[in-house]
Amino acid sequence: MTVYTLPDLPYDYAALEPHINGQILELHHDKHHAAYVKGANDTLEQIAEARDKGTLGSLVGLEKTLAFNISGHLLHTLYWQNMSPDGGDRPDGDLADAINEHFGSFEGFHAQLSTATTGVQGSGWGVLVYEPTARRLLVEQVYDHHGNVAQGSLPLLAFDAWEHAYYLQYKNVRPDFVKAMWEVVNWPDVAARYAAAAAGRTRP
Ligand code: MN
Repeated sequence: MTVYTLPDLPYDYAALEPHINGQILELHHDKHHAAYVKGANDTLEQIAEARDKGTLGSLVGLEKTLAFNISGHLLHTLYWQNMSPDGGDRPDGDLADAINEHFGSFEGFHAQLSTATTGVQGSGWGVLVYEPTARRLLVEQVYDHHGNVAQGSLPLLAFDAWEHAYYLQYKNVRPDFVKAMWEVVNWPDVAARYAAAAAGRTRP
């Protein structure tokens, strides 16, 4: 049964050039993201089968695989929306005010998210999130797709630090890729997500 589906990219593969080349975007969306969608659906089926057959001894591994794939699907879906050929610059309005309040300044936020993304050990993400308990913004350094995350926090802006996100263009120089990411950030999308989160909704 298909529970999760691969969304279309909201722009052409080459739309984010020169910052992110078309070959990266094509492979990243059509192969990597698609694999997380398939993995999530397949794992749900395997869990249902184990439940039906009474073979839940395999559940520990399946639960890890499920969290990995659903989280990979969720973050990539966000990632495509977070970027735009008309992106870059910096936010204004309520999001800008919240960034100033919770990070001191846009420059402080910029440095923190850049460092979180650049400094991921192995594969992971740097993510701006809304934490609903304290009603505040945080930067999380996410391992794989699902580790090191504050429960309940809602991702608003995700920078993919997996090698598949940049290696074909930036080789081993992840900091240059992170600089390029700032040139394509779709701030209206991030601002809409922040407004929804602050109002208690999970999406705009
Ligand atoms: Mn990725």
